[in-house]
Amino acid sequence: MENNTKKTLVIGCMDRRYNFVKEVDNENCVVIRNAGADIVNAEQSIIAALQQNPEITEIIFLPHQDCAAMKYVDGVASDGTEQNGLLAPLVGEFQDKEWEDIEELYRINSDDGFARLRDIVGRATEGTGRHIEVKRRYVGKRELDEQSEEAEGHSAVVIVEPFDGTNEDIAKRLGVEEGGMYVVQLLNADDVKQNAALLYELREKLHLEKVTLLEIGTDKKEYKKLADIAKKEFAADFPEIDFVQVPLKSAQSTRHRHVH
Ligand SMILES: [Zn+2]
Repeated sequence: MENNTKKTLVIGCMDRRYNFVKEVDNENCVVIRNAGADIVNAEQSIIAALQQNPEITEIIFLPHQDCAAMKYVDGVASDGTEQNGLLAPLVGEFQDKEWEDIEELYRINSDDGFARLRDIVGRATEGTGRHIEVKRRYVGKRELDEQSEEAEGHSAVVIVEPFDGTNEDIAKRLGVEEGGMYVVQLLNADDVKQNAALLYELREKLHLEKVTLLEIGTDKKEYKKLADIAKKEFAADFPEIDFVQVPLKSAQSTRHRHVH
């Protein structure tokens, strides 16, 4: 029965080499992705996902090695350069931390993010009797899709609806090369604004040429509103933003996996 379907909330990085489906043994997912699998700048989206989807019984947090967002944080810290205002929300999270090398920073991001996530889930479900299992997988560099590293002309796809399609699904719909595509997925207006600013700051590091806002068409008012906000936020920073509408019917996930 549709109503009894358990869902998994997946929280990961927007990294283009990243295929969350490998990590998740459930075909019914709500996906949140941003630069660095950063919990602070996705907090409101996580709460929204939990509120809108009572079927969520499990959360999988997927931080990873070789992360461009963390490399940026590391660069800012070691340069001692003045912290850019737009990146403050991300860089500021690590202000009181010290790390020997980038590997340690990846671990800090993973450990801190996981602790924050458990705290958010605890607060969001307090007194409801609802139990959500929070899991983490720390994705190693070798587990990222190396083939995608060769792709040129990177773009970002922004989705502000609970769409659980893979990079492959999204690329197919847009007719673009999968390997060159970062995917940002959020469910809250403040998170959208924050992450639009972060993406703008990271654009050169990521060789970002274009942003596409993908409207899946779940037809809920709140998502329409969010799409309008995202369009406005990203259009201000990325004049080359595309706005693409893909009807839900044709946009549904095409992944086929064996259910055990
Ligand atoms: Zn990353």
